Amino acid sequence: MIIARTIEEARKHVQEWKARGCTIGLCPTMGYLHEGHLSLMKASKQDNDITVASIFVNPMQFGPTEDLAKYPRDFERDCSMLEAEGVDMVFAPEPGEMYLDDFCTFVDMTVVSEGLCGRSRPVMFRGVCTVLTKLINIIYPNRMYMGKKDCQQLAVVRRMVRDLNFNLEVVGCATVREEDGLAKSSRNSYLSQEEREAARVLSRTLRAAQEKIAAGQTDSQELIDFMTAELTKEPMADIDYVEVVDGLTMQPIPEVREGDVIAIAVRIGTTRLIDNFIAGDPLIQLG
Ligand code: AMP
Repeated sequence: MIIARTIEEARKHVQEWKARGCTIGLCPTMGYLHEGHLSLMKASKQDNDITVASIFVNPMQFGPTEDLAKYPRDFERDCSMLEAEGVDMVFAPEPGEMYLDDFCTFVDMTVVSEGLCGRSRPVMFRGVCTVLTKLINIIYPNRMYMGKKDCQQLAVVRRMVRDLNFNLEVVGCATVREEDGLAKSSRNSYLSQEEREAARVLSRTLRAAQEKIAAGQTDSQELIDFMTAELTKEPMADIDYVEVVDGLTMQPIPEVREGDVIAIAVRIGTTRLIDNFIAGDPLIQLG
């Protein structure tokens, strides 16, 4: 597996692959990999000749009071996992390689990026859109693989690709969960044992909402009230949002239809966790 630390090196390999007519799948990550990330690599390997993973903890998408400095990192372990998956290249630049000192160009979005996580993390999607634009311009992927766990990020990126005419397909991959239903996340490593136990309330609440919808409930406000009550039963849970939104625009909607997203964000201690399901998806397995 090639480990490219510079843009020049990554481009050299990309040019060789393109000259040979290879298709390229890109899986952008912030590292500290788990099975959720690896599911993106697996999907890319199925669809493309070449799979590139990026590992970059993007400073631009962290607010001043967020967890940039303590974000978990283990590059050696990540590389062995990627190699075992058969990934062709990992692109892992330093922040200084991606952002020169006088960097001053940003990709900004309205509407889709403004609610949900955009409300409590106002700089995040500008950072995500800007860094992904750069990665796309470096790797020229035919397809880019992203997790449905970060449903708003997926909607934002789909919209950016459409609005700015990026010539690639965005592939959404199903959320990979722990045995007990908790969505896998690098940030789960912040949780103490007690918090980890409390975090089960997220998937439990979503599963209960799925059952309500399956039983015929369509009123968004009633679902929101129900989920809020369920989450409040867990004393360690501090709700950031509970919302029912259109799957493409991320705007609140009064009645749930297939394809809409039921999304929650909850702080357990100091760790902010997100999870969601798409109406019509299979029931979340709670183990
Ligand atoms: P991150 O490293 O957290 O920025 O995530 C990199 C990519 O992996 C994003 O597209 C995420 O949506 C995706 N991802 C993270 N966790 C999961 C999961 N549990 N299941 C599926 N995809 C995931």
